[in-house]
Amino acid sequence: MANIIDGKKLALELRDECAERVLRLKERGVEPRLDVVIVGNDPASQQYVNSRLKDCADVGMLSMTHVLEAEADQSELTALLDALCADPAVHGILLQMPLPKHMDQDEVLSHIRPEKDVDGLTVLNAGALFTGREGFAPCTPSSIMHLIKSTGVPLKGKNAVVVGRSIVVGKPAAMLLLSEHATVTVCHSRTEDLRSHLERADIVVAAVGVPGLIKGDMLKPGAIVVDAGIKRVDGRTVGDVEFESAERVAGYISPVPGGVGPVTRKILLKNTLTAAERANGIG
Ligand code: NAP
Repeated sequence: MANIIDGKKLALELRDECAERVLRLKERGVEPRLDVVIVGNDPASQQYVNSRLKDCADVGMLSMTHVLEAEADQSELTALLDALCADPAVHGILLQMPLPKHMDQDEVLSHIRPEKDVDGLTVLNAGALFTGREGFAPCTPSSIMHLIKSTGVPLKGKNAVVVGRSIVVGKPAAMLLLSEHATVTVCHSRTEDLRSHLERADIVVAAVGVPGLIKGDMLKPGAIVVDAGIKRVDGRTVGDVEFESAERVAGYISPVPGGVGPVTRKILLKNTLTAAERANGIG
């Protein structure tokens, strides 16, 4: 039976680490702060934002929310982002996606300075990840890497298969694995014979959103399996991996829920603290 990669436990460790870093920053006169910008009043987005604010409070970090009307002009949003970027008291900016249809997402994101883009959504941070420079990777792939590294298994030279190639999860996860010297294959909806790729994989990252797509008999025995997929099915949250069959074959497996999700939330805090430290020449 596989070892379970316990995201909740890892998240608690990260929370303690963040709380300590907040204290160290405060001792040096820096009040780390994350500002959340939300356009419209979608209840799911509101809930997401509230949980982020709670996470900040939990580690003693300051947070502010800015809510614009769903009909707000794009210029109103970009002016707000420009003001937050110019404000030295703000270290991280989280812009809740998706934006209303009348807004140009790329144009809006270009108003977030990369050093405050703690969610890793800007093109400049994507470029930094691609070229191996200092920046912020998106939080979910960073969380995936945290889970994989928590196993202690060296990644160098290992076959890693990432299923999913989105800009926020699959592609950056592949780049992060590559930077750890894994040999990376990226699969997607047009991949022929997904099974043949998975059977050779020492590390499997699932970032698809198709419940139960990956089954135990597709995996290499002993593989590390990290499941970022989230779907609600019959009132339950499930991942892309069929957990019951996969845990009998894998060496390590992350559950859904309780795997990638809780760690992702703490990575946002970690990135904000890193931004605050960098802005103040600490670290
Ligand atoms: P997305 O933008 O919809 O991308 C899904 C990817 O899966 C695409 O690259 C797609 O291929 C690929 N795909 C679809 N069907 C496939 C199939 N049958 N076989 C192989 N590949 C297939 O989704 P996302 O934003 O990356 O999110 C992926 C999952 O992670 C979702 O369940 C989402 O809810 C979850 N998620 C979790 C977190 C977290 O913190 N845990 C955060 C963000 C997202 P094509 O490119 O060819 O279309």
